[in-house]
Amino acid sequence: QAKRMGGDRIEPFRSAFKTYSSGRVELESDLRRAFGRNELSLVFQPIVKLATGEIAGFEALMRWNHAKRGFVSPTEFIPLAESTGLIVQLGQFALDEAARRLADWQRLPGQSKLFCSVNISSRQLIRQDLLNDVRQILKRYHLAPETLKLELTESLVMDNPERSAKLLERLKEMGVGLSLDDFGTGYSSLSYLMRFPFDTLKIDQSFLRGDQVPQRSILVHSIVTMAHELGLAVVAEGVDNDTDAAQLRKLNCEYAQSFMYGQPLTAEEARRRLQERAGKRGSA
Ligand code: C2E
Ligand code: MG
Ligand code: MG
Ligand code: MG
Repeated sequence: QAKRMGGDRIEPFRSAFKTYSSGRVELESDLRRAFGRNELSLVFQPIVKLATGEIAGFEALMRWNHAKRGFVSPTEFIPLAESTGLIVQLGQFALDEAARRLADWQRLPGQSKLFCSVNISSRQLIRQDLLNDVRQILKRYHLAPETLKLELTESLVMDNPERSAKLLERLKEMGVGLSLDDFGTGYSSLSYLMRFPFDTLKIDQSFLRGDQVPQRSILVHSIVTMAHELGLAVVAEGVDNDTDAAQLRKLNCEYAQSFMYGQPLTAEEARRRLQERAGKRGSA
């Protein structure tokens, strides 16, 4: 039986997943059960203001702590959840949990403007209920709409441009933030893409990690300048050195999100981090 075979494999899951379909089948059924077993959770990576290093918000990132396999990466289980339709429930969980935590953090001194970003995948976007879900969540947690941000990738938007455009307009009317995630990795027409009502552009980490090459900094310069001229705020993802950080500050890039500026934190750790800040401000 596929399920048993998968369970008895001792090699690391990553390779098993790629090689044996039995592993995939098992993981699918495991993912379905993972909910009830509390194996899914969110961690929160700081998004900092480049000018001051202060935490401006967080991105909610899903984690699956599999009972037998340990940590499974979202780059593996999100596509799986998409193909099985389970993404709808996972997505609702992420939205609700992120909003709940955000509302809690915003009650800390000086944190009323703190934001939280949640990733939205294509299956969620084509579902009619996303609007409803978002509306209800804003109400449930009494959130200022602009403090909840949704992250969408360009390929997702371009897969279904007409529908996406309508939906994004409705979300914008609701007042929630809309971020264009992983910018620069897709194949979309820029002029077309910019007709969507995004307020934030996230430069993909491939532009900022790895070897310093002059072409890369030219691209970063162009993207930040273009985004600003289009009225978008910019988050630089994956900034891993001071030279790039200095260039970004000079370009008035608003935010950075990378391991250098902060690893993903549990909700409790995030809360503590925000409190430490408040303590320092108070005593200063
Ligand atoms: P993303 O939305 O682009 O999220 C950023 C990813 O970059 C995260 O990986 C984060 O941990 C990683 N990262 C941040 N800074 C650095 C850095 O300095 N260096 C490196 N090497 N990596 C960095 P993660 O958590 O593994 O998530 C991967 C992807 O999975 C996300 O990419 C997103 O597309 C998807 N994902 C995660 N959580 C969710 C979710 O709740 N719903 C949906 N639909 N997708 C999710
Ligand atoms: Mg994201
Ligand atoms: Mg990203
Ligand atoms: Mg990414």
